[in-house]
Amino acid sequence: MRRYIFFAVAVMLSAQLLLSCVPAPQAFEQSEFIMDTVVTIRAYGKRAPQAVQAAFAEMRKIEALASAYISGSDVWKVNNSPGQMIEVSADTLAIIQLAQQVSEQTDGAFDISVFPLVQLWGIGKKDEYVPTESEVAAVVASVDFRKIRIDADKLLVGIPEGGMGIDLGGVAKGYAADRAAAVLAEHGIKHALINAGGNVVVMGGKPDGSLWRVGIQDPRDPNGYIAVVRMNTGTVVTSGDYERYFIKDGKRYHHIFDPRTGQPAAAGVIAVSVTAPTSAQADAYSTALFVMGVDKGMKLVESLPDIEAIFVTEDGEIVVSSDFPDIKLQR
Ligand code: AMP
Ligand code: MG
Repeated sequence: MRRYIFFAVAVMLSAQLLLSCVPAPQAFEQSEFIMDTVVTIRAYGKRAPQAVQAAFAEMRKIEALASAYISGSDVWKVNNSPGQMIEVSADTLAIIQLAQQVSEQTDGAFDISVFPLVQLWGIGKKDEYVPTESEVAAVVASVDFRKIRIDADKLLVGIPEGGMGIDLGGVAKGYAADRAAAVLAEHGIKHALINAGGNVVVMGGKPDGSLWRVGIQDPRDPNGYIAVVRMNTGTVVTSGDYERYFIKDGKRYHHIFDPRTGQPAAAGVIAVSVTAPTSAQADAYSTALFVMGVDKGMKLVESLPDIEAIFVTEDGEIVVSSDFPDIKLQR
């Protein structure tokens, strides 16, 4: 018995020595400002610097296609050619098709034709202000995802009339984060973390074999967390009223609109975080669920096997869907 213990200790010691001889994979981390937010990518391994550069290049490519505010982008061309079908890239088409699917599923709570509303309110821009009811009503008439025309086989997208427009701000960041992760994998990266301002994607666990810990920010405390999600590979995306907003006469006006009223969504939610098979899906659903509120939103989430969500209400209540994997509340 004693000999056995001695043997076990000897094996353990040599294993530890061996482990200490294997150098931890090199970490490389870089941040860039893309899609209106700070994007940080951390990857491990000898080829991490090149892989991270390529991932950023891919995200910038998606931004140049999908931003409504970059002259010559796919979306810019569509928005500036009412009544015409415009050829777009396969990436832009994929984002728009996913968006349309989520719009159908959420009964229009998610709607990429909110562009004229985004323009009118100007939230986060220099010209932000509270528009009059008639100004809002005039613009809401142009918001309807069903009017967007798509010919998928020919990669064509169009809007039927002037005044309409597409804004992929609620879904493109997630899509870009998925693409960045794919590029890292193509470069042989096994372990990585992408944080695109609240859109988090993790790959392959940490190099030491432990799980990534993704903190979900407290919507009223930038340094606090309401929950931590542990995952090997996956994504968590948050939509909140604290990301872009202004306060006028004590009222908060934020950047997520209810497409029906044309007002910042007021369903009693201040933040929603979503996990889904892809970051693009998580991104679109988090925006949609914010608009839908806890009751309607949770009903939808519970009916979708792949989508899980955590809501924070304006009363400070935290509501988590039944199958949210490995989530630990911090209070
Ligand atoms: P997110 O931070 O992902 O929730 O996206 C918010 C952004 O999506 C806004 O800044 C707008 O560009 C756009 N957006 C606002 N309201 C909606 C909506 N109801 N459906 C789709 N996109 C929206
Ligand atoms: Mg979103």
